[in-house]
Amino acid sequence: MWPTDSKNIRVTRQRVFLFSFLLLAVLGFFLTMILLRKPAEYYELKGFALGTYVRIVVSSKRMNPKIIAEAILDDMQRITYKFSTTDPRSVLKMLNERPDEWVDVDEETFALLKAAYAFAELTEGAFDPTIGSLLELWGFQGNYENLRVPSKEEISKTLERVGYTNVHFDEKRMRVMLKNGVKLDLGGIAKGYALERAKKIALSFDPQATGFVEAGGDIVVVGPKFGKYPWVIGVKNPRGEGIVGYIYLKSGAVATSGDYERYFEVDGVRYHHILDPKSGYPAQGVWSITVISEDAVTADVLATAGFVEAGRDWKKVVLDFPRMGGHVMLILSSGEVKKSDTFELFEKQ
Ligand code: ADP
Ligand code: MG
Repeated sequence: MWPTDSKNIRVTRQRVFLFSFLLLAVLGFFLTMILLRKPAEYYELKGFALGTYVRIVVSSKRMNPKIIAEAILDDMQRITYKFSTTDPRSVLKMLNERPDEWVDVDEETFALLKAAYAFAELTEGAFDPTIGSLLELWGFQGNYENLRVPSKEEISKTLERVGYTNVHFDEKRMRVMLKNGVKLDLGGIAKGYALERAKKIALSFDPQATGFVEAGGDIVVVGPKFGKYPWVIGVKNPRGEGIVGYIYLKSGAVATSGDYERYFEVDGVRYHHILDPKSGYPAQGVWSITVISEDAVTADVLATAGFVEAGRDWKKVVLDFPRMGGHVMLILSSGEVKKSDTFELFEKQ
């Protein structure tokens, strides 16, 4: 009996030893993994597109984030020339040069023009993609070489060639026709479109990618910082230095339109690049508007539309825009700040 027993004990001891060894090895492995695990690193790429500075900040565990950032910048540059009003490669320029005829366009152009039309309807023409001739008259196109204050007569004549209902769509054959001499300008939507695409490109490379893309102060979030924290975005003071507030975003987009970045002055009067399609003059009464939205296109367009509309009726903007998907903060030219209730949700971490 004894010898067998002692053999059993030896076997049991061996097993305990082996088990403890394996347990330690597994624990050691996980401990090393935890210690070696680095926090997500953000790759940053700066560039120029859509007539402004672009900053791409992206992180991916699946692949080199540099590849993602470069693909995004390439696409933003592609969008810049495709929807420019002056570039020889531009589809928009080609359309503007062929009035009163059906012109075949590609799927992307068709979809973007239809989106612009829908936003014009939604904002009752405060955002109007057929404002091209008026912008040209003021010199707010190309490289802003011909800035001037036109006469009242020139403005009222040019306004006859503005009006989004003059854009016609042939759904079946994917064609577009511009009537009554209207000219397209997508300056109020192209940046938002490029940002929205930037986000989709990042997520198509890696659905877990995080970061943000910024173009001239407009921002789209790719994913929360380190996968869990909001990005902190400052709202610029439209008169003077510094920041007037912070917003915290884990997803979605934010756009700002103001009278302080692209303008010229004559006899102490400031003329800026957001024109009221009703009066033909730069929209009055607002210094800046910041719009937070689920998507960058809505944010960009509603910022332009809200800037125009708020000069006439700021209450309407603050009350109505959340229903269109835009949470608004206005800085009126009295210096007063007005916000939609929903905006405050983004001011807390
Ligand atoms: P930013 O480009 O500085 O972000 P916006 O997003 O408000 O400013 O876009 C302004 C641009 O939109 C102008 O440069 C012009 O190309 C175009 N634009 C100006 N006024 C209007 C308008 N009422 N509707 C649509 N587009 C406009
Ligand atoms: Mg904008």
